[in-house]
Parts: sequence; structure tokens; C-alpha cells
Amino acid sequence: MSTLFIVGTPIGNLEDVTLRALRVLKEVDVILCEDTRVAQKLLAKYEIEAKQLATYNEQESGVTASKIIGWLEEGKSVALVSDAGTPGISDPGSLLVEKVREHFKSENDKVGPCKIEAVPGPSALTTALSIAGVPVHDFVFLGFLPHKKGRETLFKEIAGSERTMVFYESPHRILKALESLQKFAPNKKVTIARELTKIHEQIISDSAEELLTYFETNPDKVRGEFVVITY
Ligand code: SAM
Repeated sequence: MSTLFIVGTPIGNLEDVTLRALRVLKEVDVILCEDTRVAQKLLAKYEIEAKQLATYNEQESGVTASKIIGWLEEGKSVALVSDAGTPGISDPGSLLVEKVREHFKSENDKVGPCKIEAVPGPSALTTALSIAGVPVHDFVFLGFLPHKKGRETLFKEIAGSERTMVFYESPHRILKALESLQKFAPNKKVTIARELTKIHEQIISDSAEELLTYFETNPDKVRGEFVVITY
């Protein structure tokens, strides 16, 4: 039976990888990644020589889901990693899992001659929530917010929600996101988790207005990767 492993990898600190993830990456026939340079950093640190390293995407530059299904049909073991964290959480992966699951589905509604195994690891989502100091028994994850259509509706939803809301944001758009929060959700407590597990890790909580002033007056902090949490 072939196996597709969905392997969680670090979100910054390369020590945040499980023993099982390292063993699986050593053993599989193919490692699929988003960017070979990023994957190589992790593999080099743990002296793992990939038997085959390939980029997974549906464009000409990478291998497609149907090619991967072909490998699995031949009995190959395949591991999918993303640039950071858990594959499929706001990055490529979920579509591949869907296609593989669909392809190998037997009449009994079980995945047939191919197993899909999770090798759990970190995610920026759970890492941020674990140190934010907000209620986490119940939260809504919004992924990356749309740039245009539906954006205003989402900010209104955030403003009206009694739940903890979480979204991912890039450094290019973090000020825009804070401006929208200031406009639509001025009374919410906003927590920004920046550069988690990295040298410049920062957690900062305040109103959107105060945070906007902070980041506008500290442009050196408008860098890196951001998770935004509102409550
Ligand atoms: N699959 C990843 C996961 O499990 O968290 C998320 C991938 S998504 C393409 C990348 C986004 O995750 C970044 O834009 C940022 O919002 C968030 N992110 C990833 N690493 C982070 C870190 N070290 N600190 C803060 N946010 C991070």
C-alpha cells in the first residue's frame, strides 16, 4: 500500500520538527514541497538526502496531482511539506488531499490502496492562539482575507462576533488590515503575533487605533509574517 504523508514542518525555528517528521522525510520515495530552496534548509539541517525532491503545483514548473496519483499507484511513498507549518492550512495541500482521496475511494467509502497519513507539526494559527491570551475554546479562522470582494463584509462580521477571530496577513497589507479594523471594529482587542518562533518574535495587543499608530511610527516592525487575532 502506498502512503501520502502530510508533514508539518517548522514555522521559523528549525528545531520545531518532530522525530516522526524527520524519519518520514528520510524514508519516503518523493518529497513534495512548495519551494525547493526552503525545503532544502530543513533537509540540510537534519542531513536528510531526499531520494527525490519535487515542487508540487499544477503549473508547468511543478508536478501535478495526477502525476502524484500515478506515483502512488506505482506504490511509491510521498511526503508533502509546505514552506512553513501544516500543509493545507492556507497553503497548497488540501486540493491534493481531496484529489487523492477522491481517486482512491473504494465502494466502501474507504481510501483504497493508498493511505493518507498526517504527521502533525506546528501551525502559525495554533502557535499564535497558544500565547495570545484570548479565549480559545471557540474561535473562527478566516485564513487570508480577500483583497476586494467580501472584505468589508468580513470586517463587519469580525466587529459583530463574540468569538475570537483569527486571520493571516502579509507585511504589505498589515496596515490596511489595521485601518479596516479601526474603521469597522474600533472596540475590539487586537493581538498581532509577528515572526513566531523566530529571533524577532513579537506579540502585541491593543485597540486597532493604537496598533496602527505603533506600526506607523515603527516601520521596522512592519516586516515578517503576521497572525491577527481579534476578541
Ligand atoms: N501552513 C502555514 C501554517 O500552518 O501556519 C501557513 C501558511 S500561509 C501561506 C503563510 C502565512 O502564515 C503568513 O503570511 C503568516 O500570516 C502566517 N505565518 C507563517 N509563519 C508565521 C510566523 N512564523 N509568524 C507569524 N505568522 C506566520
